[in-house]
Amino acid sequence: MSHADDTIAAIATGAGAAGVGAVRVSGPLAPSIARAMLGRAPSPRHAHFAAFRDGDGDLIDRGILLYFPGPASYTGEHVLELQGHGSAVLLDALLRRVVALGARLARPGEFTERAFLNGKLDLAQAEAVADVVAATSEAGARAALRSMEGVFSARVDALLAELIALRVHIEAAIDFPEEEIDFLADPVIGANLAALRANLDALLIETRRGVRLNDGVAVAIVGRPNAGKSSLLNALAGQERAIVTDIPGTTRDVLRESVTIDGATLELADTAGLRESEDIVEREGIRRARAQLERCDVALLVTEEAHATDDLAFFEGTPVHATRLVVINKIDLARTKARRAQRDNHETLWLSARTGEGIDDLRAILRDLATAGAGEGAFSARRRHVLALETVRDHLARTAVALHDVHAGELAAEELRHAQQALGEITGSYSSDDLLGAIFGSFCIGK
Ligand code: GDP
Ligand code: ZN
Repeated sequence: MSHADDTIAAIATGAGAAGVGAVRVSGPLAPSIARAMLGRAPSPRHAHFAAFRDGDGDLIDRGILLYFPGPASYTGEHVLELQGHGSAVLLDALLRRVVALGARLARPGEFTERAFLNGKLDLAQAEAVADVVAATSEAGARAALRSMEGVFSARVDALLAELIALRVHIEAAIDFPEEEIDFLADPVIGANLAALRANLDALLIETRRGVRLNDGVAVAIVGRPNAGKSSLLNALAGQERAIVTDIPGTTRDVLRESVTIDGATLELADTAGLRESEDIVEREGIRRARAQLERCDVALLVTEEAHATDDLAFFEGTPVHATRLVVINKIDLARTKARRAQRDNHETLWLSARTGEGIDDLRAILRDLATAGAGEGAFSARRRHVLALETVRDHLARTAVALHDVHAGELAAEELRHAQQALGEITGSYSSDDLLGAIFGSFCIGK
């Protein structure tokens, strides 16, 4: 089961004063540390009321001691939990005592990393643990909980099983070169590949939605300088965050603002005017604005009536799946208002970032985009997962070409092998140390 030969410990509860705080210990020394803290052998999964003492026998705190023998524990190892008062000072003393008894301080995410390494959860579930802890909206927390419980992983595994079945089928065909062409023309292979691609596309849509539930909807505000992007960001955020001026090009960096509307999170990014610039600072701003644009869920063009048609060019570079909204700003200006009636239509919103007129309509649209499909069964996901699924999609497209156009079994099999590998990266059946380091390193300590 467990391969770690050292024992880790950390304060598992949040910083600051609280009613209860806990020190968590995992590893081979957990039973002996438990005995030392309780004065006798603990009963598994039993709440012992205990006096926690330091090496000199002085009282540190009184609290609850829980012992979970491996493998039926969070990490799969022997786990000890000491629950005392939520005082940073007392918890530190308790942690020092546990370290004196042979444990070492855990790295961020190390408990969950051990749970992953011991097969208690897969990589996507482990990431969801961190996402549950970090969730900022209720919809996001619920979705992360579903991923933690394996809802997303089960979908990935089902797809993986389909993919492997197809791969086995094709590789069997390759082994009989004289019959290969006939074999590959088998309509069942084509049908299975088509089904696999359709299922992948469906999962990709849900996974993108999962990222939105996790990170919020990424809204890139684009438009020419002085259109009112910063003003609109401020109006949506309800505070003076971005710098509003009359000088074009003032917004030198990408300004981000997190806005919650009815429990849905929007990540607004005000992009600097995407125009060529000599200024090195501004050029960096432009580069970041482009990156922001390339990964947005919603592209929101802020324009004025006179430029509305020309400014559609600002949508260039937004992803195909992104929703595009046109906001015609400054309707408080009389001239614009007079012509409003003739030009009104449903794809375009007319508002004034200055007076706030029409802002609520925009809010409602953004909220609906953020909560679309957030109901029953929605799971959370990360951008990493979307990228992996997009890689799988590309390999499957090439598999289809190899199979139907080139009739090259070897090539099809090779593409499927790559597809399987990319898919496996989601749940961690294929993973590099770098990837694991990046994922678990971003956890909070004690998780
Ligand atoms: P950005 O360069 O696109 O970020 O534009 P700003 O938000 O900095 O606004 C540029 C100028 O337009 C400022 O003087 C704003 O006060 C003005 N402005 C922004 N929105 C409105 C609006 O709805 N009505 C009017 N009359 N002026 C606006
Ligand atoms: Zn601005």
